[in-house]
Amino acid sequence: MQTTQFASVYGPVKSWRFGRSLGIDPIGSVSTCSFNCVYCQLGEIEQQNATRKIFVPTERIRQDLLGFQPWDIDVITLSGSGEPTLAQNLGEIITMAQILTGKSVGVLTNGSLLGDSSVRAELAIADFVAVKIDAVCDQQFQGINRPVQNLTLDKIWSGLKQFRQRYRGQLAIQTMLLSPWRDQDQINYITHLQELCPQEIQLNTPTRPKPLEHQLDARGNHELLQSYPVRSLKPVSEEVLKQFRDRIQAVLDVPVRYPALIH
Ligand code: SF4
Repeated sequence: MQTTQFASVYGPVKSWRFGRSLGIDPIGSVSTCSFNCVYCQLGEIEQQNATRKIFVPTERIRQDLLGFQPWDIDVITLSGSGEPTLAQNLGEIITMAQILTGKSVGVLTNGSLLGDSSVRAELAIADFVAVKIDAVCDQQFQGINRPVQNLTLDKIWSGLKQFRQRYRGQLAIQTMLLSPWRDQDQINYITHLQELCPQEIQLNTPTRPKPLEHQLDARGNHELLQSYPVRSLKPVSEEVLKQFRDRIQAVLDVPVRYPALIH
């Protein structure tokens, strides 16, 4: 049962990836995404589609942001209750937040809409963009990310590479490991990254259980608030993350980060 009233700005959230981050949720109280990842902190996605529209008006977000003055934070991040590039006012929100707060504004995306030139143009306004890539083969992609029909990994890589050509901000690739990757998958991943040249790679593994239903609290640090049914997910060991990091860094001169795991 949903107990928290929707607010389009939340946090600040402490993140090992971004520091003290204020979240903007451009999607709203119904979780909406083109994926339905098996580890999603939002629970099972309520509306799965890849159609853009305005979910939360920019003016509403501006008003909510004003409530967080003087913005004692490191960054502002658009993610929230689903895939932020589905918001048709994405570019408008990024620009408004940059001008209003003077802070770096970034977007966490699953990359599924990067084949759309207007999404690429709007995302290019962001100071940093982190794109989720959890798979290098379609079987892995379907099993982990469970995308909408007709969305393939090839389409995502192709859109991402087009985006990279014009993007002048900081690009990170975020990869969630649910189990150690096969040797050939690691090689294919590194080959893609050599072409892409991101500024950072963030390896992750599920450290929090997955809520069974959508919880607005799950947008932030919700460990202490957990009073709803969850499903546990098994993380890979820190050794697995370290080995993968070392392998990437043997080929690519790029920072590779992963969270410290507490067992
Ligand atoms: S892409 Fe993000 S919001 Fe969408 S289902 Fe996956 S983890 Fe959840």
